Amino acid sequence: MAIILRGLTECAICGSILQEDQSVRGFPPFVANAADPLYLFCDAGVHEDCFQDHPRREQVIERLAAIDALISPPGVIPRCRICAQELDWDNSWSLPFFTLDKSDPLFEFNCAEFHKVCLAAWNRRSELCGYLVGLKETWTGPHLEHVLHKVGCTETQTP
Ligand SMILES: [Zn+2]
Ligand SMILES: [Zn+2]
Repeated sequence: MAIILRGLTECAICGSILQEDQSVRGFPPFVANAADPLYLFCDAGVHEDCFQDHPRREQVIERLAAIDALISPPGVIPRCRICAQELDWDNSWSLPFFTLDKSDPLFEFNCAEFHKVCLAAWNRRSELCGYLVGLKETWTGPHLEHVLHKVGCTETQTP
């Protein structure tokens, strides 16, 4: 969740400082694509009033709910998408949320979590890399390169 320092942090919507006496809301880092119209809210703090009036409010709520439904609730250890065994923090890796569109091939990979060793040996890894490389058309920001690197889509690395 975004760290909000009252009197210092700027509202991501109106740009003015989030003050002590104002109702504010913080968002987790839930948008990986900097070209996404919701990227504004990623890891950000906003005035509650600004949020309520924002035209993309419903989209933000929908996206956060979709992500919430995918990730394990507190106290439940997430399981590897490939081997179905429990994950341990140091040896695991997760994908970001990609899309709400069920017809998109990346839909099934939304917030998927893996053991690093399982992912490295996965027979669907090159398929996944193909989809991820396709995101270069529409994604901006540093996160995609990070994902490509973690998944091991080495053929996509620039010389
Ligand atoms: Zn504001
Ligand atoms: Zn595994």
